[in-house]
Amino acid sequence: MKICQKIGWLAALSMAATFGTASAQQTQPTQTTQPPQYQQTPAPITLEKITDHIYEVKGGSGASCGVIIGEKEIMVIDAKMSEESAKQMLAEIRKISSVPIKVLALTHSDGDHVNGITGFPADIKIWAQEETKRYMDDAFTDEKQRAYLPLIKTFASGGPEYDLGNLKVQLLYFGPAHTSGDAVIFCPQEKVAFLGDLFFSGRDPLVHRHKNGDSFGLVKVLNSVLKLDAQVFLSGHADKANRADVEALIKSIEEKQAQIEAMFLEGKSLEEAKKFFKVEDRPAVSGRPQFLSLPEVIWLEVAQKRMGMKPKKK
Ligand SMILES: [Zn+2]
Repeated sequence: MKICQKIGWLAALSMAATFGTASAQQTQPTQTTQPPQYQQTPAPITLEKITDHIYEVKGGSGASCGVIIGEKEIMVIDAKMSEESAKQMLAEIRKISSVPIKVLALTHSDGDHVNGITGFPADIKIWAQEETKRYMDDAFTDEKQRAYLPLIKTFASGGPEYDLGNLKVQLLYFGPAHTSGDAVIFCPQEKVAFLGDLFFSGRDPLVHRHKNGDSFGLVKVLNSVLKLDAQVFLSGHADKANRADVEALIKSIEEKQAQIEAMFLEGKSLEEAKKFFKVEDRPAVSGRPQFLSLPEVIWLEVAQKRMGMKPKKK
């Protein structure tokens, strides 16, 4: 394929990605009603004990959440997708501990992780990476949701350490990956790390280009995560994982990156690459965000790198 042809489809794909972005931003993070895939009654909220001080929250609407119970305070990780589910989650936590629920830490800004924020008490302390707050500020149009924005304390690189009472929690940032604002919440004493959507299992990870996510960044961030002294990794949409699971995900992303770069250099088309990776274009469903597949994201990244195109930054 000639280079000019490549520039042609690259522009088309970039445009498609941009339009996808706009609709994703309009439909996912701002939605106040649930999209079709969540309209069936969600499974009841349950707390799964991970360690003496840590539970994983399953069920309800949106992504799985976490609970860390110190002697003085409880930290909740992520806010579910609806106010109702967030309130149910808090009620379930009340059944296992009377320690006050004081802090909410957000792994990133996607609606299935943050839209239930209004189910939290108005004096909750909220921590998020600064980019995540910025995306929430863009996405929240509802007055009730916007009232929670001033409660968010932000951090940039590194991140603060929070003491829940004889139990320290680190809020870490390793750079752009799933989005440009992914926080890793790590409890060294329990050797547990919460990864939000940095980890997926049994399917390709999502990389949100419309939030400046980056697949090469994801590999870097997951390698940084493995440098932590953690044994258990909890995430938004997968079961409890171990170090080997994280290593396997890194390997699978790296393999795809190498294969796609090779195909690109051989002059293969994006359509050929999509066919090779069995990526099918699915019809748009109203209210359901459409995201680029991992092979498409990698293709764009490789094309930008190889053709000297600068990624679009906000
Ligand atoms: Zn996400």
